[in-house]
Amino acid sequence: MADSQHFLVRFWGVRGSYPTPGPRTLRHGGNTACIEVQVGGQTLVFDAGSGIIRLGETLMQRASGQPLYIALFITHAHGDHLVGFPFFAPLFAPQTNIEIFGPQLAGLSMEQIVTPLMSPPYFPVEMRLLPSQRTFHTLADACSVHWYNGELTAYLCQEQPFQAPTAPADAREVRVKTLFTHSHPRDGALVYRVEYAGHCLVYATDVEWGQGCDPAFLSFIEGADVLIHDAQYTIPDYQQAKHGYGHSTVAMAVDAAQQAHVGQLILFHHEPNYDDNQLDRMEREAQQQFPRTWSAWEGLEINLLT
Ligand SMILES: [Zn+2]
Ligand SMILES: [Zn+2]
Repeated sequence: MADSQHFLVRFWGVRGSYPTPGPRTLRHGGNTACIEVQVGGQTLVFDAGSGIIRLGETLMQRASGQPLYIALFITHAHGDHLVGFPFFAPLFAPQTNIEIFGPQLAGLSMEQIVTPLMSPPYFPVEMRLLPSQRTFHTLADACSVHWYNGELTAYLCQEQPFQAPTAPADAREVRVKTLFTHSHPRDGALVYRVEYAGHCLVYATDVEWGQGCDPAFLSFIEGADVLIHDAQYTIPDYQQAKHGYGHSTVAMAVDAAQQAHVGQLILFHHEPNYDDNQLDRMEREAQQQFPRTWSAWEGLEINLLT
């Protein structure tokens, strides 16, 4: 069960674009974006790529029939971030209460975006008939969602840009903050920052800094203990064909980590055409510039409170 003293990140899907099972991706894994964060007694999930399917089965086993509360944060609506949602086992369990947070995209709320994924003819079961409790929240730039002692206590959205807090957050309060970036075509994506007990994790996938890092992004990620950052392409591939696709090179991720003085950099959203050996080479290349860099793999766990 969740422990209030935890701030633990687990990776269930690290691939971008589409799932890539098979012998070429055995070590890093072929499932698309999904990470679990156990923090201050809360279960947070970021993105519902194919990695969320095995996470869902694990959460059900851990709950063992007891009530299960999950907060699911979606960065944007591309398929690699939602493909696993209809197969997320807790949706089918009456003891589950799931709050689903995400941006408004192309004029659609998060509920309007997700509902068709579980509607005929795309899926045989209608979401409204599921026994779980579901609540949708649409997030924008500079929102902040807080939990205290297991209760959702605040849900704040403001139009002004995100400002790093001047006073330390309550040590027992979990905060999830947002930055909206337009760098990912066509509708943009949310970047999430999780704060707890003086520590900080940033989840920044599907971002591209072709003209250098956005200063607002750098201020949002400043001083994070762990930065999970899009690093889909090698520089040659980016320059030859992938400019403007909405994804970063390893060099862009390293540049962000250095400028924002983060503790660790995790390379994420791996290009599906790259095999394990290619990802190893990209990791070594990044470590020459920023030694505390690792290439994400399914099963990687990081404890921010050690
Ligand atoms: Zn993606
Ligand atoms: Zn995308």
